[in-house]
Amino acid sequence: MVSSDSNTSRHAILSCEGVTRAYTRGGSGWRRSTSSQTVVAVDDVSTSISTGDVVGLAGPSGSGKSTLLHLLAGLDTPTKGRVVLNGTDTSGLSESARAKLRLDEVGIVFQHFHLLPSLSARANAALPLVQRGVSKSTRRNKATELLNAVGLADRATHKPSELSGGEQQRVAIARALVTDPSLLIADEPTGELDSNTGRQILNLLTDVADDRAVVIASHDDAVLERADRVLRLHDGRLQDES
Ligand code: ADP
Ligand code: MG
Repeated sequence: MVSSDSNTSRHAILSCEGVTRAYTRGGSGWRRSTSSQTVVAVDDVSTSISTGDVVGLAGPSGSGKSTLLHLLAGLDTPTKGRVVLNGTDTSGLSESARAKLRLDEVGIVFQHFHLLPSLSARANAALPLVQRGVSKSTRRNKATELLNAVGLADRATHKPSELSGGEQQRVAIARALVTDPSLLIADEPTGELDSNTGRQILNLLTDVADDRAVVIASHDDAVLERADRVLRLHDGRLQDES
């Protein structure tokens, strides 16, 4: 049936089916197996995320937010269950195929920005395109376009040390978006910023959601208020959605 609903372009870009990630610490080999300790960081999480969704990921420190984001981004694979990103089960891929999938589909923004200190804002924003083998002039144009979009047109040649925290996070967002990913992941993106700057960064992250899915982990109520949906983790388990 053909629907006239304007939401017909929304489709599940990401699905988690019974996703579990256990870490085993200590103990190696059978002799020490009794001293090893298993932490179930993410426990049987199932959800599905569509294009256009802004999803908040909440929960106290240690509840599994970063671990779940890493699984969603294909940085890590579950010990049980499946993460299916744009039709591909991440567990079925080699390390290099997973890196390629990330490069094609995922942009990631971290709390501490993770910019390369020796490179200009523009060169930082262009980095994923270097990995993609894009020509220098196209890289420059695309990175400039993204820096303009995040309000940093006049900072393109500045190094990270010459930028404020909020500006550095804008560069990180430009870098995350330069490949036009279908999924944007942000782990505590406002954690280092004052509340005003944090709000601006939040606006930016939610503005770019239209044609992609955005997942933002945060303690910050302002972040969670802006989300279309909030997933709450407690001891790695998903609580009722709100
Ligand atoms: P959050 O981001 O919500 O603070 P994390 O996902 O970082 O939570 O951590 C969830 C749990 O998993 C914590 O108990 C943490 O100690 C544990 N954990 C996280 N990463 C590792 C790791 N690499 N090795 C062992 N345990 C880990
Ligand atoms: Mg975390």
